[in-house]
Amino acid sequence: MLGEETQAAVTPSERARSTSADVIVIGAGVAGLVCARQLLRAGLQVLVLEKSAGLGGRMATRRVEHAGQTVPVDHGAQYLTADSDGFYRWVKELLGLGLLAEWTRSLHVLDREGLRPEDPNDEKPRYVCPQGMTMLAKHLAAPLSVHTQTRVVSLKPLATSWQLRAENGQCYEAAALVATIPAPQLLPLLREGIPSAENLLPLLESAQYQPCLAVLAGYSEHTPPWKGIKCLEDPMLAWLGLDSSKRLQPLPPVVVLHGGAEWSSLYLEAGPSELEKAGRELLAHAAQRLDPWLASPQWMQVHRWRYALPLETTGLASLSTRVPVSAAEGLPLVCAGDWCAGGRVEGAWLSGHNAAKTLLEMLSGK
Ligand SMILES: Cc1cc2nc3c(=O)[nH]c(=O)nc-3n(C[C@H](O)[C@H](O)[C@H](O)COP(=O)(O)OP(=O)(O)OC[C@H]3O[C@@H](n4cnc5c(N)ncnc54)[C@H](O)[C@@H]3O)c2cc1C
Repeated sequence: MLGEETQAAVTPSERARSTSADVIVIGAGVAGLVCARQLLRAGLQVLVLEKSAGLGGRMATRRVEHAGQTVPVDHGAQYLTADSDGFYRWVKELLGLGLLAEWTRSLHVLDREGLRPEDPNDEKPRYVCPQGMTMLAKHLAAPLSVHTQTRVVSLKPLATSWQLRAENGQCYEAAALVATIPAPQLLPLLREGIPSAENLLPLLESAQYQPCLAVLAGYSEHTPPWKGIKCLEDPMLAWLGLDSSKRLQPLPPVVVLHGGAEWSSLYLEAGPSELEKAGRELLAHAAQRLDPWLASPQWMQVHRWRYALPLETTGLASLSTRVPVSAAEGLPLVCAGDWCAGGRVEGAWLSGHNAAKTLLEMLSGK
């Protein structure tokens, strides 16, 4: 086992070659990275496997050419709120480092009666990352060993360790496993690889997600009087955010729109041209409800989130079991993510923390 200092001294190429660890964490979203950091701090050797090229999962940022420069645009999580003491302490630490900034206390609401400022009772600080939300993931991942572009396609309990196989054919081994991917993506891996984890399956099956089509659009001028709009009872639109207002330098407007779940679900299997058409349709709808200029962006991109937000959470901060093998105690398996503790960044963070605590207790025989 290696401590945090020691593991940080391992060279990048050594890290990249390593295929075994004390613990493998699947998923480099908030839950996975927070969990891995805690385990590393406890002195364990940890390896994070992530299917995408980037870090952060749904805390996602694209770099886009806009007004002659490359600017970050958040197309997943838009802002953070902090209700629990533990998460607020982390937020304060990030504010101190300049990684987070308070964006606004008051959003707008668009409902049948039109656009209005949010009810003052709902006002609270909303925090954003001026360099884009993925910076938080990069910050969390700095001391960690993360293999990106590594999609785990099978899990197998061997006599004394887990064996994981990635899509690229690479095999990985670890004594303990933490899975932090959305429940619908984890279910087939568990059903195929670990039928004996049947006690977890009903909980995973109950964690359903809703989809979201995100539209990113850039404009040359206009100064809207709002930063973020929650759209209520709208057949197509759920959210509209002025992404450019999160950045440190003044920029012509970049707007991020999120389609409602029902409307977005119409495009789950759509190809690129159909998605582009859906994006234009959402902009035209927003223009009709808010301001005509929204229909005519200089550029537009569409991103489909198949598993955007959990409809219901399990109510348990993380799930854990020991998978029976010939080794006396069985192999520890812990599952975490926003589908456990609450479908926001804060919920994922709390779940990741809880997963690390649970695993450390299992490993110490508690
Ligand atoms: C459009 C949208 C808007 C949102 N707005 C907000 C908001 O304003 N505020 C807020 O607090 N929250 C918001 N959220 C929710 C927030 O983003 C999530 O709750 C949180 O980021 C979830 O983190 P997680 O670690 O649980 O999961 P994820 O971020 O989904 O991380 C899971 C990771 O696992 C990886 N993975 C999946 N399968 C595999 C595999 N087989 N092998 C390896 N890796 C795999 C994925 O690529 C991903 O990186 C929003 C989400 C979306 C989609």
